[in-house]
Amino acid sequence: MHLGILGGGQLGRMLAQAAARLGVRCRVFDESPDACAGHLAELCVGQYNDLARLDHFAADLDAITYEFENVPVAAAEHLAKRVRCSPQPGALHVCQDRLLEKQLFQRLGVGTAAFATIDTQPDLDVALQSIGLPAVLKTRRLGYDGKGQAVIRSVAEARHAFTTLGSGRQALIYEAFVPFSRELSILALRRHQGQTAFYPLTENHHAHGILRVSRAPAPHLTPALTHQAQRTAAVCLQAMDYVGLLAIEFFEVEGQLLANEMAPRAHNSGHWTIDGSQTSQFENQIRAVLDWPLGPTNPIGFAGMLNLIGDHPPIESLLAIPHTHVHLYGKSPRPGRKIGHINLRTDSAAQLDLAIAQSSALIEPYAS
Ligand code: AMP
Repeated sequence: MHLGILGGGQLGRMLAQAAARLGVRCRVFDESPDACAGHLAELCVGQYNDLARLDHFAADLDAITYEFENVPVAAAEHLAKRVRCSPQPGALHVCQDRLLEKQLFQRLGVGTAAFATIDTQPDLDVALQSIGLPAVLKTRRLGYDGKGQAVIRSVAEARHAFTTLGSGRQALIYEAFVPFSRELSILALRRHQGQTAFYPLTENHHAHGILRVSRAPAPHLTPALTHQAQRTAAVCLQAMDYVGLLAIEFFEVEGQLLANEMAPRAHNSGHWTIDGSQTSQFENQIRAVLDWPLGPTNPIGFAGMLNLIGDHPPIESLLAIPHTHVHLYGKSPRPGRKIGHINLRTDSAAQLDLAIAQSSALIEPYAS
């Protein structure tokens, strides 16, 4: 089997690692010759609007999937004419736009923060009145890791953010600020013939908009939370006729979940599954898009994941922490850049707390 992956970052690299075990060869497409997935898979460098290059990439592939949600939809549609692309380009279109995502959630009866689309200054004035303050103003497209958004506490801040984020041209979305007790995410899978699977909810801690630490299964889970998350994921998979791996991020507010956003790919909050679950998210994405039986999604004990951002301590010191599995992406250090993560897997929640505290103390001085 020969799998094509659009995007050559760390998610593509980890997909290629999982694929190798299943005897699947990978070819990744990226705009950069330095893409880190290229260390482990055949790399096809090109621009997404270069149709001849896309055709070259697609030659001999059995299936194509994504590791990057901002693949231009036109490129995915072009490729889908000759090779099965999963998820289908229509799902990619929805997941690229925060407004389309929220409108889909709304149509499916899934709770979200109150929101409004903002194209003009009068739209902003209406939203300030109807939704009120505090709020978050975000670009509809291309925001990630907290970029392209601003918390709004006053009318003056709203005006300022409208100018800086939108420059009067970018489409924006205005959301009520959610006073959440914590952030959770679910990873869901669906294969062509309809089989679905769900990983347990993961608890996520961010700093400056970037994920720092995940724990799975999330502590203090109730059957009601799990049911709500799985039901949300199931209706979204169904509505988008989705094949592959879908990540949904939630806010928990008074025991209820509000959906924030979706990603049509493997997700940073699912990295723990490599060492803490019977089947990793990457292997299951490959199984789903090749229409192979999905692997069990049960956790093995208690898992934690800490991102290595900016730089990391010497690998020897990371490896010396009990229960640690180190994953480095072969990327050079740079402030704000995710260059690796560590997974911690323990047999008790108390052991996990200790391991997270120990490793955070080691990692934090290097983070930037
Ligand atoms: P996002 O890019 O939408 O995932 O936002 C990045 C982070 O900003 C989230 O993980 C939250 O911590 C925070 N955030 C985003 N939207 C809201 C909101 N409506 N209310 C409160 N916090 C938010």
